[in-house]
Amino acid sequence: MRLLTALLFSWILAGTLNAQAPVRPKLIIGITIDQMRYDYLYRYASQYGSDGFNRLLREGLSFESTHYDFLPTYTAPGHACIYTGTGPAGNGIIGNEWWDPEWNAKRYVTSDKRYQTIGAEGRAGQHSPSVLLSTTVTDELRLATNFRSKVVGICIKDRGSILPAGHIPNASYWFDDQSGNWITSSYYPDSLGLPEWVQAFNNRKLPETYCSQIWDRLPGVTYEQSFADWKKYDRGRYAVSLTGGFPHNIPAIRKKMGLGVIRFTPFANTLTVDFALEALQQMQLGEDAFPDLLALSFSAPDYGGHQFGIHAEEVEDIYLRLDREIARLLNYIDQRYGKDQVLIFVSADHGGGETPAHLKDIRIPADVFPESKVDSALSAHFKSRFQTDRRLIHSVMNQMVWLNHQLIDSLGLDRQLLIQVAKDYLRKMPGVYTVYSAEDILQLPADAPAIAALRKGFYPKRSGDLFIQLDPNWHPDDQAFLYGGATHGSSYAYDTHVPLLWYGAGIKAGKSYQPATVSDIAPTLSAFLKIMEPSASTGNVLERVFER
Ligand code: ZN
Ligand code: ZN
Repeated sequence: MRLLTALLFSWILAGTLNAQAPVRPKLIIGITIDQMRYDYLYRYASQYGSDGFNRLLREGLSFESTHYDFLPTYTAPGHACIYTGTGPAGNGIIGNEWWDPEWNAKRYVTSDKRYQTIGAEGRAGQHSPSVLLSTTVTDELRLATNFRSKVVGICIKDRGSILPAGHIPNASYWFDDQSGNWITSSYYPDSLGLPEWVQAFNNRKLPETYCSQIWDRLPGVTYEQSFADWKKYDRGRYAVSLTGGFPHNIPAIRKKMGLGVIRFTPFANTLTVDFALEALQQMQLGEDAFPDLLALSFSAPDYGGHQFGIHAEEVEDIYLRLDREIARLLNYIDQRYGKDQVLIFVSADHGGGETPAHLKDIRIPADVFPESKVDSALSAHFKSRFQTDRRLIHSVMNQMVWLNHQLIDSLGLDRQLLIQVAKDYLRKMPGVYTVYSAEDILQLPADAPAIAALRKGFYPKRSGDLFIQLDPNWHPDDQAFLYGGATHGSSYAYDTHVPLLWYGAGIKAGKSYQPATVSDIAPTLSAFLKIMEPSASTGNVLERVFER
């Protein structure tokens, strides 16, 4: 007994001496909601329940003025920023795709043919985070605990899982349209096959069950934030079978589109939470002294936003049902861990703009910029100016033009002159505010319009030679939503202003109106965990998160 008392005493003493060892939450859940504008927190609040978004707002700390400070505002750069604490200039993720001089082709951000699909046939798993140049907060957590902290990424979209999970996670899973399975890449530790629990989950064939339902309005809900006569604006490019308003006969549409139709429906969010709860259980996350991190991202709001547009009942419905999924997740946390053992942050990878056709109809200046025609139009202009039939342009996408430097030089053409000619030509197009060259972006004073945002979004070896800055409410037609739907990508408020909420782990409820950037999330989380911030982090620590 005396020995036991002595042991106990020395243990307590050691505990006191080690009082500077950080007290960390057992689990961190990073929630990214694809295309969630800031205003969706409040716009639908009267229809949300009390246990989802309203609970996060009531019990959490909301940074009400959080923006992206770079462009382009797309999914891959947004997810990368949340977890690296910096923009494309620091992490190299300049878009969802870009012209790759090494491939001499367009490259999709995470495509990596060195790796194989695990969990299905086909190529949907041939991905890796190799283009991500800096570490992520998830990498730093793994390094800080000698790999004892577990990290997993989960998202219907591959890039929404891969980039947040970083270079050295335990796992990263995304959805395969063909099989309806959650899959991964042989890049990750599961290279010999999916773990048994993932196989068992896939064998339940939940996507088949979800896609056997009619998608209709929730009973008893008025959809007061949407236009009932929105039909002429709901024609995004992705899923023509989904036009025409509620109800949507998903089983019939599935016959044309396959299981991929689930991406446009609220059922994709339900499936994501189903799988996330299974991962928390089966991977035993949040059960020891080393904090684990689940990077969770909801893709349906983005697919729905592109397809239907901001005033569509479908988008409202996706959010009202997502609210119930958030409530399901928060309830699970209450029961399994207790709120104060878990830190949750919520943000978005970008916002989204109003449908230009709708804005035009209500007399707000807006339109679609014919980006898909820039290549041929500018090529014709070069031909008449420089008397050559050769293709001097590699590609035009994301409001950027990539020139074929090798060819231009080998033809003895003056590259600077060519760039000036292109600028003069493009600046005359309707909707173009101005055109910057790569040199302008790096050299113009920081207070020149959009330059600060462009510079933070620019990675010289990957970005194009020219950037076309459009007027507000003008959207490039690369998303082909001439007839409706919504898109994003600009440096205007509708694309940059996103939610930022912190909840649990002793966070004091409140609201901050101090300007914050999305780059602040990773360094703030790093400070919270007392670990190094990601290697290229440029964000600031948000002090309010530490108020008790
Ligand atoms: Zn996105
Ligand atoms: Zn999108």
